[in-house]
Amino acid sequence: MPELPEVEHLRRSLESWIQGARIRNVHLERLDVLDWRASPGTLKSDRNQALLQGGRISCLDRHGKQMAIHTEDGRVLCVHLGMSGRMEIARAEDELPAHTHCVWDLLAGRRRIQMRFVDPRRFGGLWTFRSRQKLLSDRWGALGPDAVSLDPESMAQQLRGRSRGLKASLLDQSVVAGLGNIYVDEALFESKLHPRQPAGSLKQVEIGRLTTSVVGILRRAIKEGGSTIHTWADLTGDPGGFSTQHQVYGRGGEMCTTCGQRLSSAQVVQRTTVWCSKCQTIKRRKRWEI
Ligand SMILES: [Zn+2]
Repeated sequence: MPELPEVEHLRRSLESWIQGARIRNVHLERLDVLDWRASPGTLKSDRNQALLQGGRISCLDRHGKQMAIHTEDGRVLCVHLGMSGRMEIARAEDELPAHTHCVWDLLAGRRRIQMRFVDPRRFGGLWTFRSRQKLLSDRWGALGPDAVSLDPESMAQQLRGRSRGLKASLLDQSVVAGLGNIYVDEALFESKLHPRQPAGSLKQVEIGRLTTSVVGILRRAIKEGGSTIHTWADLTGDPGGFSTQHQVYGRGGEMCTTCGQRLSSAQVVQRTTVWCSKCQTIKRRKRWEI
């Protein structure tokens, strides 16, 4: 499943292809990938208009695991890749892959290219907005701060008063946007914090360590192009390079790279969670106030 580093990697690659391009035509192959509540009408012409037809692409941005494509006239298309979604750039004459749900014909300089939204399992989708402001008020406003831009102050603010465990809290997109199973386990291991430690019970020094780990791991993963997990591949079809660096994710029962003890694995908030019970102990604290 694409997480923040994969989406950021995609955003950068995609931007290098489509920034400044003119959208000549849009073909929505499957209506239900578009969220109707955020769309202006049911006519095909309205739909295509909302899907940026006729616009020139000014920039792409991202919040958490969601990406947005902006046109110069202010329209916005928000893309969520879900479990198996991807955006592809291809030549117009290249065969459409199975499960292509939307195609944009682009003129980039003098080149005619296509951008394609492909999503076999259809947990992803497209949302259209009249303006960046509508995107923020109607969709991104519900998300917590973007995980890669966290600092200790914003992390402390997001975790304050929470009795749920760190794993549950960090996976909650309204607390922090962009973290998934892999990077939460990796960050908790690196910062020596137990997945079930109540999120509101951390000391300032632990919040600092956690923030450094979250941001550091995400930055490294972005640089490497994300993790190679299941169906994920970036635009060029290259698998990401980060998976070789996982310390705990997918390593339940193997040796801890720090102390050599066998790593524990269990379901925490219905997600397979791996940690070292020697390096990451739960700290019992009477009071949560720091
Ligand atoms: Zn250990």
